[in-house]
Parts: sequence; structure tokens; C-alpha cells
Amino acid sequence: MEPYRFCPRCGAALEHLPMSGRLRHACVQDGCGFVHWDNPLPVLAAVVEYEGKLLLARNAAWPEKMFALVTGFMERDESPELGVARELKEETNLDTVSASLIGVYEFMRKNELIIAYHVRAEGEIRLSEELAEYRLVAPENMRIWNAGTGFAVADFLERRGLPVRFFDRATGLDIPDPRRPTDFSLVAASLQYGIDQK
Ligand SMILES: [Zn+2]
Repeated sequence: MEPYRFCPRCGAALEHLPMSGRLRHACVQDGCGFVHWDNPLPVLAAVVEYEGKLLLARNAAWPEKMFALVTGFMERDESPELGVARELKEETNLDTVSASLIGVYEFMRKNELIIAYHVRAEGEIRLSEELAEYRLVAPENMRIWNAGTGFAVADFLERRGLPVRFFDRATGLDIPDPRRPTDFSLVAASLQYGIDQK
């Protein structure tokens, strides 16, 4: 997202100020106090199990062979479980029987945080206009894209003892498992302005 140039609260020009370890766009007008923290936005994602298979969908705006999980933004006053069930209903007409958390994943490219659920669903599939087509894939045949929601699929399959096979979306070729343990030594490096400059 483009950073704000003007304060959405009072209209003054925003300035770059070091706050809580980073430069932030902040308003310096007396009594305003607006700061654009630019925190990641939570996105809900569903690994949908339907009639023993996993449902992947292609967004109408995407290239021919690009399929992914059903995803959507949370609404205000909504729990993530109900949000993922609502998205699934809106986009596929399927009814959620259960939703259990798989995990939480970074998606830094879009400044989003993915909250991924395993959703058992039933009903009749009818796609919204947002989606062009869907596929039902046997879990043991899943090939996983190397980004965001792909890591949720990998964890889902791994916990069931199923093969975890990643591929490169650009080339279509298999690639080694790209997942790495989190390197907590990066915490200090991420604080560009020290922890004392609150
Ligand atoms: Zn302001």
C-alpha cells in the first residue's frame, strides 16, 4: 500500500519520525497524534476439505493454471472462524461444518498476515463471479506453491503424514521444501532505531 502523505484525521502533511524501532508516517499537529503504523492486515484462508478432496479455486483475474485457497479479509465484529465460513459461503456456496486452525503465516509481499483454517465443508458448489473455476484435488496429489497460503497447505498435509511437494509457479517444476526454522536473531536487526526511542 502507498504510504499516506497527509493525515487522514486532520489533513496536515505527515512526517517521517522514528517511533517504536522504525520510521513511521506520523502527524505532528498539536493534539492530533495520528500515526500510520502500517501493520499487516489479517487475511483468512481456508484449506477446504470437501467430499474427501481439497478445493482449490482460480480467481477470475488470474492466469489459466493458477489455483489457490479460498481467502478473504476479516470484517469488523467477526471472529476468524465465522469469517472464514462466511468467505467460503460467499465464494463457493459451501457450508462450513467445522473450522480448525492450521497456523498463522507471513505474507510480507502484501503486508498481510494469513490465518489459515482447515474447513470441512458440505453442500453444492456454486462459484461467485469473483472465481472462474475450481478443482478438487486428492490430498495425496497436492502440489504446493512456494508462498503465503502454500505453507499452510504444507503444514496441513505434513500433520496427516501426506507427501509435501512444493513447485515453482513460474516454471511448474518441483522444488525443495523452502520452509526454514525461524531465525530469532533477526529481531535485533529489525529494530532500526533501537528500543529506547519510543
Ligand atoms: Zn493529524
